[in-house]
Amino acid sequence: MKKLIAVLALGASIATVAAPETTIVQASTINDTAKQNSFSGVTYAEQVLAQEGIKYNDFSAANPINYRNGKPEGVVIHETATPNATARNECIYFNREWMNIYSYVHAFVDKTGVIQMTSPDYGVWGAGPVANNRFVQVELCEENNLADFAKGVNNDAIYVAQILHQYNLVPDNAVHDGKGTIWSHHAVSTFLGGTDHTDPDGYFAKWGYSMDDFFDLVKYYYDQGTPADNAPVDNDTVTPPAPAAPAKKPAVLPKPVATKVLIHNALVYDENGVATDLPTKKAGTKLTIYGNQTIKKRKYLQIGVNQYVVASNVEGKLRPLSHNAYIYDGKGKRVGMNKLYRGNYVRTYGGRVKIKGRKYYPIDVNQFVKVGNFK
Ligand SMILES: [Zn+2]
Repeated sequence: MKKLIAVLALGASIATVAAPETTIVQASTINDTAKQNSFSGVTYAEQVLAQEGIKYNDFSAANPINYRNGKPEGVVIHETATPNATARNECIYFNREWMNIYSYVHAFVDKTGVIQMTSPDYGVWGAGPVANNRFVQVELCEENNLADFAKGVNNDAIYVAQILHQYNLVPDNAVHDGKGTIWSHHAVSTFLGGTDHTDPDGYFAKWGYSMDDFFDLVKYYYDQGTPADNAPVDNDTVTPPAPAAPAKKPAVLPKPVATKVLIHNALVYDENGVATDLPTKKAGTKLTIYGNQTIKKRKYLQIGVNQYVVASNVEGKLRPLSHNAYIYDGKGKRVGMNKLYRGNYVRTYGGRVKIKGRKYYPIDVNQFVKVGNFK
């Protein structure tokens, strides 16, 4: 989908028209590199736009496009063809212009994550009249180096795998025979018509990558199951003291790997996964992370010498919403009128919290969604 957003991104791009790396790496290596990244998660256009002080133009509310079979039949993979435009740039542009450019997709993906524009429960204007009432449409943004490209396709593949699970679809590569659940925009042009674009093939080829490689990556994540399949990590229950085990970790801190904001209050554990007497770290605290470690099958982040917090308090996990949901603050008061929609995944952090007798999951610092909306 070529469009005028290039103008928008021009200011940033003039100074950094970096040539893409010339080394073509084996595609299998790109998938291996991709898998080393963790999923950066899904945010919603409404949230992104609210941060920018921009009103959300709800495409699906204005044009509810019903799928011909009542639900999506697969996903079309696109590439924006817009160098230096991030998912956030695209979100802002399409929110403003869709009614002028007659174009809209369900999600933009880049190295930093996924921005879902509207619920995949309804169709969009992504790949012509034949495909629009059949498929979910996902756009990958362009990156400027191989490491970022691998992060982008990794986020793309995980999101697409989640969509397949969400609608009870199985991975089936449609690129060669025009039948299946994973399409490129090019395959839509070839087998269904109504459009003539050939993305994302050209952009993938630039990195020595192909739709077949991407399909393999989707299949890999699909086979791991949905995020909801993983047992929830609740912090309501404190791990009981365990018999002392010999210490393995050196008492020297490794190099810090990141600074992350804690979204859920967190107990501090020792290297054996036993809660310490140290004060609880409060939501909103910035933590220096020195790596992660699995202790008794639970993932922890190291925050100091022999100090760990349960990773889900920082990294969260995606849960599908079964009902439309409002956002509440720490006093149980509704925050604004923005709604999160049924069918979407929301990242929740740590265990349930009780506010005035009701149970919530934290979704951000001082933002909570009722647990009942995820049942
Ligand atoms: Zn396209």
